[in-house]
Amino acid sequence: MSSSYGGTSAFDRLRARLDGQSYACEECGFVDEGGTWEAVTTGATVEYRRECPSCGTERVRLYRL
Ligand SMILES: [Zn+2]
Repeated sequence: MSSSYGGTSAFDRLRARLDGQSYACEECGFVDEGGTWEAVTTGATVEYRRECPSCGTERVRLYRL
């Protein structure tokens, strides 16, 4: 499924910024360099979720658009 957005959206910019960071799990300390955040938007906010591949803990970050 491809997005109908023609250009770079605010989501994409935020996600690119998050994806550029290495992610260290708060639970087990596993550092995941290559993972991606899954974006879920509710209109006024966007939620980025990421699951630790080592222990399965889900991390959520919330941003306002
Ligand atoms: Zn973990």
